[in-house]
Amino acid sequence: MKIMKISIIGSGYVGIVTGIGFAELGHNVIFVDVDENKVNLINSRKPPIYEKGLKELMQKNKRRYHATTDYYEAIMNSEITFICVGTPSKEDGSIDLRYVESASKGVGEALANKDDFHVVVVKSTVLPGTTEGVIKPLIEKESGKKAFEDFGLAMNPEFLREGNAVEDFFNPDRIVIGVKDEKTKSILDELYKQFNCPKLFTDIKTAEMIKYVSNAFLATKISFANEIGNICKKLGIDVYKVFEGVGLDHRINPAFFRAGIGFGGSCFPKDVKALIRKAEELGEDPKILKAVIEVNEKQPLKMIELLKKHIPNLRNKRVGILGLAFKPDTDDIRESRAIPIIKALIKEGAKVIAYDPKAMNNFAKMFPQIDYANSAKDVIAKSDAILIVTEWKEFEELDYKGKIVIDGRRIEKAMKDTKIYEGMCW
Ligand code: NAD
Repeated sequence: MKIMKISIIGSGYVGIVTGIGFAELGHNVIFVDVDENKVNLINSRKPPIYEKGLKELMQKNKRRYHATTDYYEAIMNSEITFICVGTPSKEDGSIDLRYVESASKGVGEALANKDDFHVVVVKSTVLPGTTEGVIKPLIEKESGKKAFEDFGLAMNPEFLREGNAVEDFFNPDRIVIGVKDEKTKSILDELYKQFNCPKLFTDIKTAEMIKYVSNAFLATKISFANEIGNICKKLGIDVYKVFEGVGLDHRINPAFFRAGIGFGGSCFPKDVKALIRKAEELGEDPKILKAVIEVNEKQPLKMIELLKKHIPNLRNKRVGILGLAFKPDTDDIRESRAIPIIKALIKEGAKVIAYDPKAMNNFAKMFPQIDYANSAKDVIAKSDAILIVTEWKEFEELDYKGKIVIDGRRIEKAMKDTKIYEGMCW
């Protein structure tokens, strides 16, 4: 194996896991971030985010990486740069490229000083055409060099799942690499040699599109499951049994029909919205994608409807929230379904008390006005009704006896011994 020098621009969920993953495989890694706090944390060998197994790998490989705010230092001392900065949504749902643009400029400025061939890989999720239409011209302009000749440019979408990201780095389902020049292709081929999964080499815009279509399809599966689930609930049918039967058809596959309160996170909502805006820009009317978002926005509010069936007036009632992260095993609250649910409860005049094993600090910055408990048990003890919003494993161990529980995530234990139990779609 050839040991490579890698720089990572943007040390958030994707950047830190990718960089530490490469360090574990033996490579030398330099992280760059504009957030000095993150840079300091990484240099003290502390994870800037919570992700299972990350802390241990940061300790184990502590001599193979460091972090800086200085692009020049990072580019001069590496041969491959991964751009991993965020690509959030603008107000209108379109993609906000400001971080990608500033990262591209920074890389270009530094590259102007470098004679050796350098490969730039875009890992951030960007719409088809962005790598060649936005990133390439910016790097070329700032560096005075030509892409695919003086420096390599590729697009390598990331498919890791937060909560399982370290495991996913080492065991991906597939690696997709959008490339144009042979030199870049062979360098990335070498970098990914140790991975045994299928590797798909495509042109750059196809690689960009594969990422959007993967996320759009998974989001569609969830909204479809929720729409069917809402019908099942009215019919007194358990939608999970239905999808067990449906999933046995090998053309369908049982995974990811997770009916409940919908999807959140930093990817599905923003990526589906960005694809909608792009389609509209092209004169298309993406009806399915729009419905996916519409179903997803209504779904968490169904929890309030179910709660009001049992407590019609929520004013001054203590409502307990179990789970604030958008999914278990992460501290990420971006687009968490807890946000619209808690907003609605506050509007109804309820007193909210919440608990999450990892995400309370992040959530308290957004909602300082609600109460936070020290434990899930405490939430149960202090609430008139409990809403289960994230399926943390520890919620399977609780005693829900005698309580009103509205369950958005199908916690088996709650299904068994509660006074009043309402599942979202079952
Ligand atoms: P994040 O917000 O956690 O991290 C982005 C980091 O980039 C932050 O630390 C920020 O300070 C830094 N940054 C911003 N501008 C910078 C600049 N000019 N120079 C250096 N650093 C800069 O984002 P994330 O969740 O890691 O996502 C990154 C990209 O990967 C996005 O495009 C996202 O869609 C995609 N993605 C994310 C996931 C996921 O599960 N989070 C999975 C697959 C793909």
